[in-house]
Amino acid sequence: MLQGKVAVVTGGTRGIGLAIVKKFLENGASVALLGSRKDSADKAVTALRAENPDYKVIGLWPNLSNAAEVKEAFDTVKSKFGSLDILVNNAGIAASDPLYTYKPEDFARIMDLNVTAVFTCSQAAARIMKEQGGGVILNTSSMVSLYGQSSGAGYPASKFAVNGLTKSLARELGRDGIRVNAVAPGVINTDMMAAVPADLLKPIVAKIPLGRIGEPEDIANAFLFLASDMASYITGAVLSVDGASMT
Ligand code: NAD
Repeated sequence: MLQGKVAVVTGGTRGIGLAIVKKFLENGASVALLGSRKDSADKAVTALRAENPDYKVIGLWPNLSNAAEVKEAFDTVKSKFGSLDILVNNAGIAASDPLYTYKPEDFARIMDLNVTAVFTCSQAAARIMKEQGGGVILNTSSMVSLYGQSSGAGYPASKFAVNGLTKSLARELGRDGIRVNAVAPGVINTDMMAAVPADLLKPIVAKIPLGRIGEPEDIANAFLFLASDMASYITGAVLSVDGASMT
């Protein structure tokens, strides 16, 4: 579904991001996975190449909210693979503390990666995509971007902002042939979810109509569809992939 396409996936070293990277590689794309550190990016690339030596995959680790570092990374992708057709803004962090004890520095850290980096990477990618005549920008939002959550307010606030960027950039960039969409996952089986206190998670999981939490591949399938030409008339959408969870 992505034969000949070139994709960048931020937070591609594990969890949902790594599942997206794999799905894109299996579907013929060349992929640059972006991590926070050289060692984790190298480890992911080595594992993928061991799985299939034909995979065209590289790892990079720019500071995602630093425009100069992001530009340099995207230029590297373009010169290595020839274009940049798909950007997935997936890297994200959370904190679940109650408001009374929430650390301002945690709020700032979450906004920096979950929002500023989405802006910075989208701007750098859109400049390249416009010149190429089009592209696709996809964001990892969250089901809490629709409902909020009862603790850890910085994270849902950041994901509401991701939806705002998704819908606004879809309007702004449509004429340049750039589609912008988001996927809003529910509770997904990754390291991030493992860190959420059980008492916060249990009542949410108990109410999932499909009777299970999601797997990273459930989310990667939605990204594959939105990245592909099958979604050629879809832009500005926030697609829930959450088993109909409601908090
Ligand atoms: P994870 O913790 O398993 O992976 C996070 C990824 O982000 C890793 O690849 C990590 O290297 C990267 N990352 C973290 N800090 C970074 C930084 N400063 N710079 C660059 N990369 C950085 O988490 P996950 O569950 O796979 O989450 C991926 C995305 O999905 C996030 O945006 C998260 O908010 C969202 N999400 C997750 C769930 C869930 O239930 N797991 C639900 C809804 C949304």
